[in-house]
Amino acid sequence: MSEANFTKPEQFAAIQRLLAGIKQRSAFYREKYADVDLAAIRSWEDFERLPLSEKADLRNAYPLGLQAVPDEDVVRIHSSSGTTGTPVIIPYTAGDVEDWTTMFARCYEMAGCTRLDRIQITPGYGLWTAGIGFQAGAERLGAMVVPMGPGNTDKQMQMLTDLKSTVICATSSYALLLAEEVERRGLRDKIHLRRAIIGSERWGEKMRRRIADELGVRLYDIYGLTEIYGPGIGISCQHECGMHYWDDYLHFEIVDQHTGAPVPEGEIGELVITTLRKEGAPLIRYRTHDLTRFVPGPCACGSPFPRIADILGRTDDMVKVKGVIVFPALFDEVLHKVDGASSEFQVMIDHLDGRDTVTVFFETAEGAHREGIEAEVRRRCKERIGLTVVPKAVAVGDLPRSEKKTNRLFDNRY
Ligand code: ZN
Repeated sequence: MSEANFTKPEQFAAIQRLLAGIKQRSAFYREKYADVDLAAIRSWEDFERLPLSEKADLRNAYPLGLQAVPDEDVVRIHSSSGTTGTPVIIPYTAGDVEDWTTMFARCYEMAGCTRLDRIQITPGYGLWTAGIGFQAGAERLGAMVVPMGPGNTDKQMQMLTDLKSTVICATSSYALLLAEEVERRGLRDKIHLRRAIIGSERWGEKMRRRIADELGVRLYDIYGLTEIYGPGIGISCQHECGMHYWDDYLHFEIVDQHTGAPVPEGEIGELVITTLRKEGAPLIRYRTHDLTRFVPGPCACGSPFPRIADILGRTDDMVKVKGVIVFPALFDEVLHKVDGASSEFQVMIDHLDGRDTVTVFFETAEGAHREGIEAEVRRRCKERIGLTVVPKAVAVGDLPRSEKKTNRLFDNRY
């Protein structure tokens, strides 16, 4: 498989090819860029002044307003799991399906999978993109696919043991469920898993360790979103230092979520994606609402493909307090480094006596030296986040359980 990443000029040429004639091909872009002369875009600066696109724009184009090719060129649609009313429908051409498969096969290779692997796929099949993408990529690689879909734990366990699956693909919550089930049934010595490819929702360090230990696997985070092919547009390598992404298919920008301006390299912002080759429904400067940063420099694995950090959270989870931007993952990171503090925590932001206060509740084991641990948490929050907090150690089990770090920051100021 080709391992050639794009140079900056190659990327820009791809963007110009994308923009050329897009108004003719797509009613959506005809309207969106009605006042913009796309032929006048000759530099990155010009491009970065184009308005961002939003999921709401896509929803307004329901059902097939995004389609940028004739009907006979569309071979499939996928749809985002719309929790809020109207779904987003994305049409794919045969070329789009092929490109997605190529990217996904690269993901498996990045994770060290080979033709000898047996890949058990548990994400769902259907309108939502996940399962079929995992399958197409694995078949392209030449591995053996065990196409399970989610649920039916008995059958999952049976396939893990009898077929000796070596790779499991799952969401983090489903991987955790399988790990617990392996433990409960005492199957640890009967399974042959070596790798787990986990959909990159934001998940905690404790959950990672549990899955890795119980299933006996190395974990790889895979990234993607339905609007842009689906999972498979980026994945972590064995060095676990962010996720490589395929810059010959996609252009990534990290922008200030309020101004839309690029943030300095290495700083955290919102990931914005432009598809370089997508035909059915190309997206230009699409806001993912995912918070991350570019990881500068070459990776120890030697891959030429650039990296973003693991997804740190959603822009919706981000709040500004005392002029500092905070989100749950930051506290997770701080607490992870403090001996004696567990990864269960809650952050309360209040407005008391005319000023904002941030209280960090976290669990500590019985008999721990709470004052010392609290002082350490205060010191590290100041150092890492730039924020003075009120640390409050509580007993294990005192805080409500949630695997999602996003439900841990409460802004009570308004
Ligand atoms: Zn790497």
